[in-house]
Amino acid sequence: MNHNLYSALRRGFPADLQQTAVETDHGLAYSWSDLERGSAMLANWIDSLHLPSASRIAVQTEKSVEVLMLYLACLRSGHVFLPLNPAYQQTEIAYFVANAEPAVVVCTPANFGWVSKIAFQAGTRYVLTLDDQRGGSLLARAAHHSDVHTPVVSAFDDLAAIIYTSGTTGRSKGAMLSHGNLLSNAQVLKDYWGWQTGDVLIHALPVFHVHGLFVAIHGALLNGSKMLWHSRFDAQQVLADMPRATVLMGVPTFYTRLLALPGLNAEACAHMRLFISGSAPMLLDTFESWHQRTGHTVLERYGMSETVMLTSNPYKPDERHGGSSIRVGGSVGFPLPGVSLRIAGDNGELLGSGEVGSIQVKGPNVFAGYWRMPEKTAQEFTADGYFVTGDMGTVDDKAYVRIVGRSKDLIISGGLNVYPAEVEDALNNLPGVAESAVVGVPHADFGEAGFAFVLARPGVELQAAQLLAALKTKLANFKVPKHCQVVNDLPRNAMGKVQKNLLREMAGKLGSGSN
Ligand code: AMP
Repeated sequence: MNHNLYSALRRGFPADLQQTAVETDHGLAYSWSDLERGSAMLANWIDSLHLPSASRIAVQTEKSVEVLMLYLACLRSGHVFLPLNPAYQQTEIAYFVANAEPAVVVCTPANFGWVSKIAFQAGTRYVLTLDDQRGGSLLARAAHHSDVHTPVVSAFDDLAAIIYTSGTTGRSKGAMLSHGNLLSNAQVLKDYWGWQTGDVLIHALPVFHVHGLFVAIHGALLNGSKMLWHSRFDAQQVLADMPRATVLMGVPTFYTRLLALPGLNAEACAHMRLFISGSAPMLLDTFESWHQRTGHTVLERYGMSETVMLTSNPYKPDERHGGSSIRVGGSVGFPLPGVSLRIAGDNGELLGSGEVGSIQVKGPNVFAGYWRMPEKTAQEFTADGYFVTGDMGTVDDKAYVRIVGRSKDLIISGGLNVYPAEVEDALNNLPGVAESAVVGVPHADFGEAGFAFVLARPGVELQAAQLLAALKTKLANFKVPKHCQVVNDLPRNAMGKVQKNLLREMAGKLGSGSN
């Protein structure tokens, strides 16, 4: 059986290839035929290099439709797409290039000097450029090639992409995803989220990460749906596009920024069918405010680079769970069809409903392992083949999954486990608190203690000591952070995740203050 992801996505294209597939905020319209022909030319160029199969093609550029075509070209030619965040600097790129040994590196014209130096020194033979205005040497090369190309036949396990994890502790690891992993997940999501004829997706996410590259793009292509392509997220522009769109996929920050716009109301969202959120936890407050303002209930889902999507709140009645179609705030929903999810204790014992433990998963979407890290891969899988996600969570008696944090974020204070998410929840519920993040810091007496960073609602002045005092009335004392700092902002990465490693550093520098 052929599992080639491009061939499967291609079958989703509409019969009339002259229809618009992608409309960009630069005023360009790409037809389905443009996607097919552009990716064919790039694939033919790649084929002309006669690379060993599954060669890595590393790409560090700005977001553009041509990057999407290059991704499709890699799938067509049987090579491995390796996207890199444009924010990465020289030492980071040097690490990825040395680790992945790409045959081809594509970078922006502005970075060509230093990127090519690093790549050529590491043995990469081809370094090409691509900017976000269709300029650069890559497209010039592809222009000489035919726009007709037959994709390779791929096995389920053939590698399609390597996604380097954000690596907040230790070295970043390359998650190896196969054609079968990505295709099986895309097919499940097409059904579970009820993709339908006439759907139009607002694509405002970056394309170097699973959310924007796989979940959003595969969903639209497999359904033959047009994408409104935003080169970066701009809340005003997303709001303006809603009357001609039906689906938005975003990180929670998209939703909080949209909520800050006075024009966000039920009328503005009347044409929309579905709002999806993921990549970081959505605050209950955001979930509820969204419902009040727009009449829509955000559908929150959970996944990661190593597994693509794992769980989702239901879009329509889920027969596996008594026909429930209820989307629960603060929960990431049910394991997707085909995904087995379980919660394990410290010694690997399986835990019952409501108990907090390590989330382990198995399914056709789960990756093959980390690139050239067999020991690390072995450590992260159980003897019976479950992947240990590194997330801590619970499953309730109705099968809804909740995430309470990363296992490495767990704080062990005086020998007792403290889950940052529980403390953050309690803090967020105090009057005047907009958001909070709790990290562990070394403590002479308790081993570790919590350090809370708190963001006030606009116009509110918060006192750290009062917050801690209020928290003592809500939580057992051992869970109450020993330190608290009111801040103007929380550091986040491009996917809206709070960067707890940076907060730990800040906490270290601040010492034991509470102000
Ligand atoms: P990444 O591999 O960069 O996509 O990060 C994956 C991690 O993001 C997961 O292991 C979770 O810790 C977190 N994550 C993703 N979606 C959610 C969500 N809906 N709620 C809470 N955490 C999430």
